[in-house]
Amino acid sequence: MYDPYVDRQLSSSQGDLNSYWQAVTPQPVEYPAIVKDVSCDTVVIGAGYTGLNCGYELAATEQRDVVVLDALQPGWGCSGRNGGFVLRGTGRLGLTQLADQFGLDTARLFHQEYGEAIARVNQLIDEGNIDCQPQPVGYYKLAHKPAMAKDLVRQAELLQQHFAYPVRYLDKSVLQQTVVNHQHTYAALSFPDCYGLNPLALAGGYARMAAAAGAKLHGQSPVVSFKRCKTGFEVVTPQAVIKSSNLVLATNAYTARGLYPALNNGCLPVLSSVIVTEPLTSHQLQQLNWQQNSIMMDTRTLKYYYRLLPDKRILFGGRGAISGKAAADPIYARRLLAALKHSFAGLDQLNYQYQWSGWVGVSFDDLPRIYSPEPNLFYAAGYCGSGLSFSTLAGKRLAQLVAGKRLPALPIYQSGLPVFPMTAFRRQGQQLYYQWGRFKDHFL
Ligand SMILES: Cc1cc2nc3c(=O)[nH]c(=O)nc-3n(C[C@H](O)[C@H](O)[C@H](O)COP(=O)(O)OP(=O)(O)OC[C@H]3O[C@@H](n4cnc5c(N)ncnc54)[C@H](O)[C@@H]3O)c2cc1C
Repeated sequence: MYDPYVDRQLSSSQGDLNSYWQAVTPQPVEYPAIVKDVSCDTVVIGAGYTGLNCGYELAATEQRDVVVLDALQPGWGCSGRNGGFVLRGTGRLGLTQLADQFGLDTARLFHQEYGEAIARVNQLIDEGNIDCQPQPVGYYKLAHKPAMAKDLVRQAELLQQHFAYPVRYLDKSVLQQTVVNHQHTYAALSFPDCYGLNPLALAGGYARMAAAAGAKLHGQSPVVSFKRCKTGFEVVTPQAVIKSSNLVLATNAYTARGLYPALNNGCLPVLSSVIVTEPLTSHQLQQLNWQQNSIMMDTRTLKYYYRLLPDKRILFGGRGAISGKAAADPIYARRLLAALKHSFAGLDQLNYQYQWSGWVGVSFDDLPRIYSPEPNLFYAAGYCGSGLSFSTLAGKRLAQLVAGKRLPALPIYQSGLPVFPMTAFRRQGQQLYYQWGRFKDHFL
């Protein structure tokens, strides 16, 4: 599997993903490769949610001549293969941590921005008539230990009092009776505005909207290199050179080592893996008492996330291998299946039918950045595995930066991604973090 930590380039021929989302989503539109030299105002590299939204906003609102390029096809990266959790937040810092680090006023501004991200997803689904099967709202954060249940009580108070966020605390018996019969959960927080959808269909819808607004989309067009020239940039693909005044890097965790080292060094590619089971029998469903197609994530350091899909399968995700070379090893899928069976009774015979993984971009300080590190060059990256809703807004924020507009006064818009110390040893650091996480989740 392509590994941005070691590979110098992303090529346009990659193995089949065979994801559940591909199996249940109508064949998406194929965008052709760019085959002749052109000039434009802005080139966006990467057609995930970030790049597609940037292209859409630049074309629709800023009336810019924009070309969006992807090495494969729109949504090939994280955007077409994620869990489909529309969450209010990004990065790995919750509102309590943001309030501690930046003060309550700034934390409130973060909360507002995250709310705007969900509102934008909802608005685009409506406006673009995107058939991505949004489920009824329902997201539960599950305490995996009694101590975390106490922590959730504190979080609920803080969110209700200081952020006017109507989260709800559920104790174990209420959770088991009204949400799901989980064997190893001690309490939950319920969030009122988060839900699940089909992420690949969403990416396809965004691509369609960007193209309809006038952005020129090209698949099978890996950017091999770019350099500055008198008029801006020369962006090189295998069959064409594109001249542009502005350049946007929306390649996030898929940024190859050789493309723009400053971005690669500030964004560690980490594998997140997913399994999707066979459909549950009505007896299994009855035992689980899973009330609706709600989405769930636990409070572990090495988190598991899961949801009941509309066709009664369970999607269960968590950490994967460390390197691309090891990504296809079935041991990771088997571990996820074992964790799923540990969580719920009565699933001993259940197997998985799909498994895949993808690279999420983790930043050193657990926060993403949307920034211009040098004149006319822009990037957005480092959502730390929680980027579905936020990348949708980040694309718009990137377009506003290109257009010279001011962004909300948030730290994530005011500096670039901090470079990891000892960048050459980030993977060793990740190994140690996983060992510490396992220890903490079991014993502390
Ligand atoms: C298994 C998994 C589960 C996840 N679940 C969730 C979830 O439930 N909820 C949530 O909020 N987040 C989730 N995430 C994270 C979320 O999917 C990402 O944060 C989000 O999709 C990032 O979008 P993006 O557009 O920034 O990047 P991507 O979607 O990764 O897009 C980057 C694109 O850049 C292209 N590219 C790279 N280099 C080049 C080049 N040189 N030339 C041309 N193109 C290039 C790639 O082909 C790729 O399509 C998950 C991620 C994974 C992997």
